[in-house]
Amino acid sequence: IIEIEDVHKRFGRVHALRGVSLTVEKGEVVVIIGPSGSGKSTLLRCINRLEEYNSGRISVDGIPLDSTENINAVRQEVGMVFQQFNLFSHLSVMDNLILAQMQVRKRSRSEAEGIARELLKKVGIPEKERAFPGQLSGGQQQRVAIARALAMNPKIMLFDEPTSALDPEMIKEVLDVMTGLAAEGMTMVVVSHEMGFARAAADRMIFMDEGRIVEMASPNDFFINPKEERSRAFLSKVL
Ligand code: ATP
Ligand code: MG
Repeated sequence: IIEIEDVHKRFGRVHALRGVSLTVEKGEVVVIIGPSGSGKSTLLRCINRLEEYNSGRISVDGIPLDSTENINAVRQEVGMVFQQFNLFSHLSVMDNLILAQMQVRKRSRSEAEGIARELLKKVGIPEKERAFPGQLSGGQQQRVAIARALAMNPKIMLFDEPTSALDPEMIKEVLDVMTGLAAEGMTMVVVSHEMGFARAAADRMIFMDEGRIVEMASPNDFFINPKEERSRAFLSKVL
């Protein structure tokens, strides 16, 4: 459902992606790890074209990212959750959840609210619809952010270190929601160093370093017997 072919991305002198190729199947959960600056966020951002790339090809659900029209179409299929929750702080949880549904999906307010309530139940905070983001814990805010992305009925969800800004006791509640999504068959590309989650939910592990995919393997092979020295050294730090 995602096809990435020999993608290069430069920021001035920084060669952030150096020929990345990757195919993600429908329903697959891919977890990406790697040191700071290795290009993980840049790769995710290229998938929904938050970032332009210099060369190579990406297509999502058969749509190549090569025209404004196609890019807009792809963005509608791809939900993204960031480290910082990026909720609108002046809007209630409910208003955060219905805004894009009404503007982009052209749903009526009552339809959008119904969907929002279902999703708040799903992420475990149905009682928070009238709250404002500032009144929620980090874990609750992140679950609202996930619900907001899901409200658009994405075919793919991208997560960029969704728990790294959270206190330890809130990490689990967010990972539980993500594990549930994975179990339902959502296609997910997740940058995360939560190795418990990766072991439980990943179909495939990717280790990136210096703008390249250095190793790609099943979680079993990757954790028990990483082939590359660099993956091994990195794993010894995060495990
Ligand atoms: P981290 O684990 O710290 O989030 P990362 O693997 O996500 O790191 P990227 O954010 O993809 O790394 O960055 C890859 C490289 O590209 C880094 O050298 C970074 O400094 C550079 N870079 C990323 N975004 C920009 C930007 N907007 N302008 C200039 N350089 C950038
Ligand atoms: Mg990053």
